[in-house]
Amino acid sequence: MTRNVTSAAKVAVLYALFATLWILFSDLAVETLLPSPQVRAIAQTYKGLAFVVITAGLLLAMVLKGNNALEKANDMDSLTGLHSMTMFVRTLNLTIRQLKPNEQLILGYLDIDDFKRINDAIGFEKADAFLRDLAQALNDALLPGSFASRLHADQFASFAKITNEYDMDEHMQDIQRMYTHLAKDYGIESTCCISIALYPQDGSTAKELMVSATEALNVAKEKKNAIQYHDKALTEKAMQRRQMMLDLRNAIDNGGLSVVYQPKYDLDTLNVNGVEVLVRWNHPTKGYIAPDVFIPLAENHGLTGAISKLVINKVANELSPTNLLGNQIKAIAVNVSAAEFNNAEEMQELVRFIKEQKAIAPYINIEITETATLDNLNNSVEVISSLQQSGIAISIDDFGTGYTSLAMLKDLTVDEIKIDRSYISEVENDDRSRTIISAIIAMTNSFGINLVAEGVETESQLKILQKMGCQQAQGYYLGRPMPVQQLLQHLI
Ligand code: C2E
Ligand code: CA
Ligand code: CA
Repeated sequence: MTRNVTSAAKVAVLYALFATLWILFSDLAVETLLPSPQVRAIAQTYKGLAFVVITAGLLLAMVLKGNNALEKANDMDSLTGLHSMTMFVRTLNLTIRQLKPNEQLILGYLDIDDFKRINDAIGFEKADAFLRDLAQALNDALLPGSFASRLHADQFASFAKITNEYDMDEHMQDIQRMYTHLAKDYGIESTCCISIALYPQDGSTAKELMVSATEALNVAKEKKNAIQYHDKALTEKAMQRRQMMLDLRNAIDNGGLSVVYQPKYDLDTLNVNGVEVLVRWNHPTKGYIAPDVFIPLAENHGLTGAISKLVINKVANELSPTNLLGNQIKAIAVNVSAAEFNNAEEMQELVRFIKEQKAIAPYINIEITETATLDNLNNSVEVISSLQQSGIAISIDDFGTGYTSLAMLKDLTVDEIKIDRSYISEVENDDRSRTIISAIIAMTNSFGINLVAEGVETESQLKILQKMGCQQAQGYYLGRPMPVQQLLQHLI
């Protein structure tokens, strides 16, 4: 904008200068050179005409130069020097129109995974230089005759005619490798996704092909570091998942989620001594959606932190006004997903949030699955001990479903273990399950760890567990997950 104003001002000054000089000097010349008043009058008229013709010519030249520059700017991406999106679409359409009947075209998109992280890590200026280098490297790596462009901030596109012997997979993998190397040169660990749409099978116009490439890219971005060919069925599934994610976001923001409480029982007295909080989603059109379905979706889209806060908030509103805390309910177990547990920032935020809910904070403990802790054992040791220092007890959920259940206990000092319900469901008929449970009971006793049997569904399972000396149990036979009002009645 300021550049436009400056150049307009320059033109105005130049014009004023030229006009003043013209008037002064041409009048002086006419006065001195032409003595006859009639000849002078005629000369004045032609002088005026000449002035008009010269200035019109100059203005025309300037406008043409401006238009040219404007067109060039429109055709080019100013950061990378690659073609602009407008130019790209125009050329793609033109190329499609000129293809011979047996000719094929490949349209590829490259999109950086989590570009925001790169900006945060190396700053905007260096990130711009990285994009410029990437554009250059891409241009060098593409098929001869390719036409490349930067479509958005961190999204590149190119198309080229292809022959049958071209090995697409290998070429795409080379480009991904080139990308990772370049990122390393900038001190960044980064990956990118590539999507591919082919002419004529994935679209017969530039627009159709670009829609197909975008759809394939959306599928790839869910996985990260992926190469994805356009595929109708996959695209539809990805679109459904995306819709579900948007619905979940909406449910989180607008009160669509609720919680239920499943009691935990002391097996000596069969009294309730704690509860596990479980989240519930009643979708406006699809009805009940199980947490096993939407929690993984929440993990993929960074929504687990919001869900945990929502769950804790609900508990604070529903349980603290009652007089159950510390009395019948000595512990409130909250589930934390693997993605959240392995994210240090999110865990700090969660602890801060729990501490804020003063009435319930002393009772909250966290359940985390065995597999999540095994993802990064060293990190888990740290996170668990820092949680325990904040006064939050840790329970290992679904114990027995990970590979190294026993070995992990050597490194992790946890407060509670929940034997997975797959062992409990077999306790009546399977000797081996009984032996494993006995071993776990002996081990937790000697470590001083609390033990809970999950998924007790029958009286005989309960009796066997009591006989074996298991401390606590949870399951449909004793109490299903229930809303707070029902829990209050259950506890009377
Ligand atoms: P989980 O932590 O192992 O929770 C126990 C699941 O087993 C619950 O399913 C519960 O309803 C079910 N269950 C309890 N007793 C019995 C029984 O006797 N028999 C059988 N067959 N099932 C029983 P739900 O509520 O569908 O939750 C499934 C999983 O979703 C949970 O497994 C947990 O991993 C996750 N989840 C639930 N709520 C939350 C939450 O608020 N946050 C996070 N991050 N994950 C949650
Ligand atoms: Ca649990
Ligand atoms: Ca469990």
